[in-house]
Amino acid sequence: MIRGHQVSGTCWICGANADSSEHRFKKTDLVRAHGRGPYVGPSALAHVRDGIESLVQGPGSQTLKYLPSLCKHCNNTYTQPFDRAYDALISWVMANEDLVLRRRFIDFEEVYGAGWEDSQRNLYKYFAKSFGCRLVDACTAVPPDIVELLGQTSFRTSLRLTIAVNEDLLLMPKSDRNGFIGKGELFAWAPRSAPSSPDSFIWDEHISWLRTCYWYNHAPDGAYGSTWIADCKVIYLGSFAPLDEHTRNEFIEKVKAREES
Ligand SMILES: [Zn+2]
Repeated sequence: MIRGHQVSGTCWICGANADSSEHRFKKTDLVRAHGRGPYVGPSALAHVRDGIESLVQGPGSQTLKYLPSLCKHCNNTYTQPFDRAYDALISWVMANEDLVLRRRFIDFEEVYGAGWEDSQRNLYKYFAKSFGCRLVDACTAVPPDIVELLGQTSFRTSLRLTIAVNEDLLLMPKSDRNGFIGKGELFAWAPRSAPSSPDSFIWDEHISWLRTCYWYNHAPDGAYGSTWIADCKVIYLGSFAPLDEHTRNEFIEKVKAREES
């Protein structure tokens, strides 16, 4: 098979039979925010996708998984160090939330210790895997550079990442915003000569106020943080506030009223 051109039913990483599904949301992120489940009664968790809401029974729920696009080996064994590096980052950021929000940067040596160089590369590969799974879910071929970099220690790629703070989320109490886990829309652009083969993408994912922005073959907006391609010790956080002033003020009033009641 041609690498990077996912054939339906095959693993987009190695080309073997796809018999494993990546979670749309990472199990550890859901457990951290919502507990181990089952999510029933007043703690029921709803997952809204394409405007359709479905109740989620627990962190392993099928509605939270993509259709199979990976083989078991790639999804579990091969990419396990990537998943671990991601879990370590999120745990560290949430445990050091006040510090990170005050300084507005993440120093990978503080997160990972002496092995930070390998770990930040594995973290980057976690995001590359997440991006690949999202593209396949949108019936879009994963660009070859994304597939190839997963097995390399030094690489060239068109995928640039930035991390930004959603300032509006900081208006919410911690316990509420911690449950705010999701993925943004995938925006794609195709060349005029091949309108059905997009080659440029923007996407994002978020855990609470922390938003990871994906810029593939598209210039990153510097307001969303310093550009990272698995090549720095320190990443500077960007900042954005999606609510307009009126909505923002309303939101502040609501939170105040709730705190007072
Ligand atoms: Zn595979």
